[in-house]
Amino acid sequence: MSEYQPASRVARIRESASVLAAGRVRELKAEGRSIIDLTVGEPDFDTPDHVKQAAIAAITAGETKYTAVTGTPQLRSAILGHLERRTGLRYGQNEITVAGGAKQVIFTAFMASLDKGDEVVIPAPYWVSYPDMVLANDGTPVIVPCGDEVGFKLTPEALAAAITPATKWLILNTPSNPTGVVYSPAELKALAAVLADHPHVHVLTDEIYDEINFGAGQITSLVAAAPQLRDRVLVVNGVSKAYAMTGWRLGYGVGPAGLVAAINKLQSQISSCPSSISQAAAAAALTGEQRFVAECVAAYKERRDVAVAGLNSIEGLSCTTPDGAFYVYVKCEGAIGKTTPDGSRIESDQDFVLYLLDAASVAVIPGSAYGLGPYFRISFATSLETIKTGLEAIDKAVRSLK
Ligand code: PLP
Repeated sequence: MSEYQPASRVARIRESASVLAAGRVRELKAEGRSIIDLTVGEPDFDTPDHVKQAAIAAITAGETKYTAVTGTPQLRSAILGHLERRTGLRYGQNEITVAGGAKQVIFTAFMASLDKGDEVVIPAPYWVSYPDMVLANDGTPVIVPCGDEVGFKLTPEALAAAITPATKWLILNTPSNPTGVVYSPAELKALAAVLADHPHVHVLTDEIYDEINFGAGQITSLVAAAPQLRDRVLVVNGVSKAYAMTGWRLGYGVGPAGLVAAINKLQSQISSCPSSISQAAAAAALTGEQRFVAECVAAYKERRDVAVAGLNSIEGLSCTTPDGAFYVYVKCEGAIGKTTPDGSRIESDQDFVLYLLDAASVAVIPGSAYGLGPYFRISFATSLETIKTGLEAIDKAVRSLK
């Protein structure tokens, strides 16, 4: 038999950097190394009990069969109610898609809409998966660098300059992974004003971290700031981050009926529907007691403050304070060009991250994975003790550089 040759779409993408980093940490731990893991992209809290009970009740009641592709009526109404509370906009039953995670919604949205040559504008730093998802679906990622000089946010000018007749999508992610920045209503309105001149551009707004917000009030969704864009915006969200339900795999998208119908047609051939049990659990999470979310946010905020203060006190490192999500994006320019105790020169954030793993047993993710270096991302979805120990170890490792 001839050797397996992957399809060209596989050859043109990389494996998710965060999934790889998590795998590497697992391997090192299995080898007996004690690793301070600051890579984790999921809450360290357990799924709330009332959500688990709803799943158990669904199993007991025999809700263990295929559901409609578009989800159970309970889940659909929970999602639409949640979105209406957040945005003031009422969406219809034909404007919703559900899937095995927000990740699957985004992938299928691109599969449903991109043809060869279609461009997708992606502000950098970006969530690792966007460019590869675009490439896997024959599109062309158009990366727009958004450094700390613009607060890691896409400006109206940069957006206008990036749009071409081939632009199909703009991706917005607020709060952002990896920077934690949140777009204000005024910033969203300014981007919407540019989009008004380019009616062929759709927007995928990834709001998976919308509940993890350290500012006053709620974060503003693009469709709330600019409801006139509603017919070309796909709002993507899910229960993974807010309700500590990453393993349940349940995400959703809400947007224009034509696009959603195309996504659902693909879903009918990809997975038929997400797990019926996870759907019951997600409906309970969205409609039930929300105290859990507030408690998690309070804990994240305390950890964020410790992480930001600690990182900024390390010579050569600096970071801004994230307004949402559970990541800090740390500039490590001061370490570049230095030499480690064993004589290797640090040329890039990747070298720095490898050095931290070797010398300090601290695992973080290099900024190059997110399209903007020299930075690294730490996650504070872990205990205060782990964060403090990690920062001490990073400090010691940085002090050893010459
Ligand atoms: N979008 C962003 C920005 C994320 O960081 C993640 C997960 O890390 C996802 C989407 C995927 O979420 P889900 O677990 O719902 O697939």
